[in-house]
Amino acid sequence: MITDWFETRDPRFGGLILGNVHVERLWTGARWAEGPVYVPAGKYLLFSDIPNDRVLRFDETDGAVSVFESPCGYQNGHSLDPEGRVLACEHGGRRVSRREHDGTVTVVSDRIDGKRLNSPNDVVARSDGSVWFTDPAYGIDSDYEGHRSEPEVGGCHLYRADPSGAVAAVARDFVRPNGLAFSLDERQFYVSDTGATHVEDGPRHIRVFDVAADGRSLAGGRVFATCEAGLFDGFRLDRLGNLWTSAADGVHCYGPDGTLIGKIRVPEVVSNVEFGGPKRNRLYITATQSLYAVYLKVNGARRFGRD
Ligand code: MG
Repeated sequence: MITDWFETRDPRFGGLILGNVHVERLWTGARWAEGPVYVPAGKYLLFSDIPNDRVLRFDETDGAVSVFESPCGYQNGHSLDPEGRVLACEHGGRRVSRREHDGTVTVVSDRIDGKRLNSPNDVVARSDGSVWFTDPAYGIDSDYEGHRSEPEVGGCHLYRADPSGAVAAVARDFVRPNGLAFSLDERQFYVSDTGATHVEDGPRHIRVFDVAADGRSLAGGRVFATCEAGLFDGFRLDRLGNLWTSAADGVHCYGPDGTLIGKIRVPEVVSNVEFGGPKRNRLYITATQSLYAVYLKVNGARRFGRD
């Protein structure tokens, strides 16, 4: 069944969406919107406009959008750590940073074995305080989304920063690792690969790994889903374990078994999504020039064992 906004591929999708809602375009004016993170304490959403080197803030209380920070080091992906602090991937500084509650910024990682990272793209924290991030080279390929420079690390890898500060690669067999998320029990880890941007017939899929019992390493890495429209960039999980991911024609929703169960149609290429609102039942969607949102029947995944 296809309605204006939703395309149902599996009956399960009907239980996740509402019948009388619209996909709202909340704001437009970005060059490439990305990196949405909802900050519950402030009732706002931060998101990146990477080529314009700025982070924007959508105020959920009155709908206003304003500049949160500019220049911002060409920030891309964001998420919250277990203490509610905002983690940021910075193309310009080639680092992952954390904004402390007093507003100061702490470097989480900018080097591996003495070499500068490429340009961290997306980040997520685990309840043990570790910070996991992808490091493709999009931010150093040109001057558009960062500063053109030479890679120092021999590849585009997935990293884990330990709470102690130690950083280690946890997977090296990607072309361009990108979005990432843990399963609800944090025992599985999903990572997208957008390598098709640089390699003909390259990867355009999401892989799923098993997380070791000590939470420090990964095994497996089979393909969970392959994108049928464009690329999977960023994504999030809902409370039932369904995966809501960006794609060229909107947001694709996959069941925990890897079945494409439905889509939200969006009129611009989608880069990333984030659950927000006080009830975490509003899906924010960054899509090329604009920010969209839609209310869902399902709520976003609990984070770090709490709402
Ligand atoms: Mg990304």
